[in-house]
Amino acid sequence: MTADGPGGPATRPHPAVATARRLLEASSRVVVLTGAGISTDSGIPDFRGPSGVFTKNPEAQKLATLQVYMSDPEARRRSWRNRLESPTWNAQPNEGHLALVQLERRGALDTLVTQNIDGLHQAAGTDPARVVEIHGTMREVTCMTCGARTPMPDVLDRVKAGEDDPSCLEAKGGNDVCGGILKSATISFGQNLVSADLERAEQAASHCDLLLAIGSSLSVYPAAGLVPTAHLSGAKIVIVNAERTDYDSIADVVVRGPISEMLPGIVAPEIGALGLAERHGPA
Ligand SMILES: [Zn+2]
Repeated sequence: MTADGPGGPATRPHPAVATARRLLEASSRVVVLTGAGISTDSGIPDFRGPSGVFTKNPEAQKLATLQVYMSDPEARRRSWRNRLESPTWNAQPNEGHLALVQLERRGALDTLVTQNIDGLHQAAGTDPARVVEIHGTMREVTCMTCGARTPMPDVLDRVKAGEDDPSCLEAKGGNDVCGGILKSATISFGQNLVSADLERAEQAASHCDLLLAIGSSLSVYPAAGLVPTAHLSGAKIVIVNAERTDYDSIADVVVRGPISEMLPGIVAPEIGALGLAERHGPA
């Protein structure tokens, strides 16, 4: 079933929302897959959508390519300046992120796989042990030589203090330090995913009783492949997205609308019902 979100005379919860809520309530092992759409209401731009950063500025995509980053010091300097100014550092989780915490509190969340690198699920209160950040995280920095991980704020402090391309300070023995190139701990274009993360996500998708895909066009693989994996294993598929996705045809229900408004009504009914009534007035 496919339906448009609230609009016009919609003063009652939308039928697609009610169907999605019933399916969620009947499920006890839910895998959630989130994409950029869940974070846009927190002020974080979508990189690949129609008005995305990469779509409008191919130069930004070039900077995010591993080979360019590793070979071009100027690309690294620009990347560090961009990281310093990222909207993520001031972003707060929105009602979409918070609704998923409710799902976890009632014991139904098995694993939350996210394509996002912003860390907002953990900031909202989702147990970090249940989160698989399949494209990495921008809240940490990794050394491309020795693999050492450092909190991002520590390295940004060095950039603010004047190091425009900070290198790894990990001790190497004697008075030497590693000196390797540092990069945010995200998966760049041209970089392999972490196989342990991918395996964990695939295992979860093949053992869940419902897969809830939120805010993703489901066009970037291998994350998008979790949807058919869950479907073939017999799980229900619920898709919540502002636009159509590549897997709408195999979904049990598709909820089309603003995610931070629709999601509370789907996964946290008691809060969501109130929220909808407040937003759209009495029926
Ligand atoms: Zn190092």
